[in-house]
Amino acid sequence: MKYDLDHKDIREAVAKLCTQFAGVYWRKCDNASYYPSDFVNALTEGGYLSALIPEEYGGLGLPLSAGAAILEEIHRSGGNAAACHAQMYTMGTVLRHGTKVQKRAYLPKIASGELRLQAFGVTEPTSGTDTTNLRTVAQKVGDTYVVNGQKIWTSRAEHSDLMLLLARTTPKGDVKKKTDGLSVFLVDMREVRGSSLSIRPIKTMMNHATTELFFDDMIIPADTLVGEEGQGFRYILSGMNAERLLIAAECIGDAKWFIEKATSYAADRTVFQRPIGQNQGIQFPIAKAYANMRAAELMVREGLRLYEAGGTNGEEANLAKLLAADASWAAAEACLQTHGGFGFAQEYDVERKYREARLYQVAPISTNLILSYIAEHVLGMARSY
Ligand SMILES: Cc1cc2nc3c(=O)[nH]c(=O)nc-3n(C[C@H](O)[C@H](O)[C@H](O)COP(=O)(O)OP(=O)(O)OC[C@H]3O[C@@H](n4cnc5c(N)ncnc54)[C@H](O)[C@@H]3O)c2cc1C
Repeated sequence: MKYDLDHKDIREAVAKLCTQFAGVYWRKCDNASYYPSDFVNALTEGGYLSALIPEEYGGLGLPLSAGAAILEEIHRSGGNAAACHAQMYTMGTVLRHGTKVQKRAYLPKIASGELRLQAFGVTEPTSGTDTTNLRTVAQKVGDTYVVNGQKIWTSRAEHSDLMLLLARTTPKGDVKKKTDGLSVFLVDMREVRGSSLSIRPIKTMMNHATTELFFDDMIIPADTLVGEEGQGFRYILSGMNAERLLIAAECIGDAKWFIEKATSYAADRTVFQRPIGQNQGIQFPIAKAYANMRAAELMVREGLRLYEAGGTNGEEANLAKLLAADASWAAAEACLQTHGGFGFAQEYDVERKYREARLYQVAPISTNLILSYIAEHVLGMARSY
């Protein structure tokens, strides 16, 4: 596939695909808490979910900015990529740290869509953001690991074959640093689902297919370990910058959708015998949202540029996620307000997108934790926690 710096061809192709999945489709899924399988299948068939998998493993071998372009366009069209975006960033952990055998066994099947790697089990109910305090343990027994514990917010687990799981393999008391002793596993959930792995869906304010997982003596082969035992925290961290940039791109897409929707409604809606968009009180929040979106978009591009140049980009990836999530939320506010009462009616899609956009202030990393990162790692201030 050909692409230029902005991946114009990819953007156009994704935008075209998304026309098959208009607001009415997303509304139906949202109302019925239905996983958007048709949309995910169409993206898989188009090869978009394999964009970042190298060509030698059957993927398109495109850079991160292409993945960002795909996700942004989905959100800009009024859709939501949360049903399938995880594959783009979880796959990177397998690619960087997996064995050759694991990569040969799984990546071509993930690229073709035969297998889905959509579940990412890190967060736990008791430890929350404090990941090194997680309680799920994987104990080595012969050629296997026995996993016990619980995860929360493991999204898409019911719609995924594979899960990247973070568990403690050495007790915290036995390691020098609390970040040591955690390991990553590529779990084939098909073999344990319904027996030693229970999945319980969690209803949320938006349609997100998120779940709680319970591991009860779940036995997994030892060769599901990704990389070295005890190094898992670092492997998960190594994928965070890519994840933040991809999510930031989704937020930019959302912001563009809200701004376009608000601008168009402001021109059409006539009150007091004139379009409401003639009032500065309507114009200014939309104009400001646009300015914020453009600034955030530049930071996303800078983060992607540095990532692709192989440099360190923790600062830019975090800034991009922070600014883009804020920009999309401000645009959501402006859009809802512009629509007045109609903003609350389902048929306009504004209230659905509004609910969906709110998530990015909290997940995959909350705004406070990004600010803490900036204070500590960029500005050199004292660690606050
Ligand atoms: C819909 C949804 C889908 C998700 N999908 C996944 C998934 O697929 N896989 C996965 O592993 N996780 C997933 N998550 C979890 C998500 O990453 C966490 O919710 C997020 O990181 C925040 O963690 P927490 O909910 O445990 O909040 P907590 O850690 O309990 O924090 C609660 C609040 O306190 C603040 N806070 C905590 N500590 C500090 C501090 N030191 N300084 C300042 N403020 C602080 C936080 O910012 C937050 O606002 C998902 C969450 C949601 C809601």
